[in-house]
Amino acid sequence: MKTDIINMSIKEMEQFMEQLGEKKFRARQIFGWIYKGVDSFDEMTNLSKELKKKLYENAVLTKLIILNVQKSEKDGTRKYLFGLRDGNSIESVFMKYKFGNTVCISSQAGCRMMCSFCASAINGLHRNLTAGEMADQIISIEKDTGEKVTNIVVMGTGEPLDNYENLLKFIKNIHEKDGLYLSLRNITVSTCGLIPKMTEFAENLPQVNLAVSLHAPNDNIRNKIMPISKKYPMDELIAESRRYIAKTGRRLTFEYALIKGVNDSDKNAKELAERLRGINCHVNIIPLNQVTETGFRGTEREEAKRFCEILEGRGIQATVRRELGSDIDAACGQLRLKSIIS
Ligand code: SAH
Repeated sequence: MKTDIINMSIKEMEQFMEQLGEKKFRARQIFGWIYKGVDSFDEMTNLSKELKKKLYENAVLTKLIILNVQKSEKDGTRKYLFGLRDGNSIESVFMKYKFGNTVCISSQAGCRMMCSFCASAINGLHRNLTAGEMADQIISIEKDTGEKVTNIVVMGTGEPLDNYENLLKFIKNIHEKDGLYLSLRNITVSTCGLIPKMTEFAENLPQVNLAVSLHAPNDNIRNKIMPISKKYPMDELIAESRRYIAKTGRRLTFEYALIKGVNDSDKNAKELAERLRGINCHVNIIPLNQVTETGFRGTEREEAKRFCEILEGRGIQATVRRELGSDIDAACGQLRLKSIIS
């Protein structure tokens, strides 16, 4: 079978060049072309004819296919539906912020974490994305928009730490000088709390930002909406978060989606503040986005502000997140495959 070079690290590309009887420096050239967004070996104009021929004989460059792009009239947000070669499809979102262009990428086709309020859980997990498929969401969006992407959030469909090896490879590749040269500090990975992988992540990539989806002040509530909580209870998750901060010296983000009547009372805010006291963290409050099938509703913005104030009044840094792309169902947690491929 031919190797897919979009999945290779620079080291693997160098070994591949060796196998083909080529010079090592060719690896960086080819790697550079991939991350510039070429669609074929022909476009790699500084390679010799012979090398291109060898590439056609021994390798493929598998690109995502843009199936659909929805553009927000409100704020320039774009939601992409990409087709994978095996018929699966995934979504990514391009957002314009003052600090730069951000892409929210998917890490899996589907998800097996089964959070009860999340659209991604509806059809379960199809499969992990490869490192190349994760990177190509950004590469293809840069090409389509003609704009440089400066920030990445791994907050689309999937649980990134459930696809750990591919995630690491992807992050290392986009960080390469000949890749997208993205700063590790501009990358944020969000997890529902896979504790053993959080430990590894702190060791492997301490400069990357970590966000933990908490969404509840105690196990009683969390167990009802996030099944993973039964495996990794909150006490252990909070303890791991403390260790993460101590080890990396970084502030951690906790995400908290406010669900009407489930986790949004004043009592819940006070209990949360108690749990997070003394932790170097920031709480990102998101009024839940309505996903019709789940039956859950979001808390009103005014109420969300009050929740936020209770936390702040108790010394916990918190903000209510501004939502982009709400007119195109691109807001957080709403990524799902609506129609095109079912
Ligand atoms: N699996 C990872 C990352 C993907 S989801 C995680 O759990 O963190 C990114 C964020 O969106 C998570 O905090 C997730 O809980 C949240 N989310 C899911 N559905 C949502 C919804 N309907 N409204 C608001 N946020 C939602």
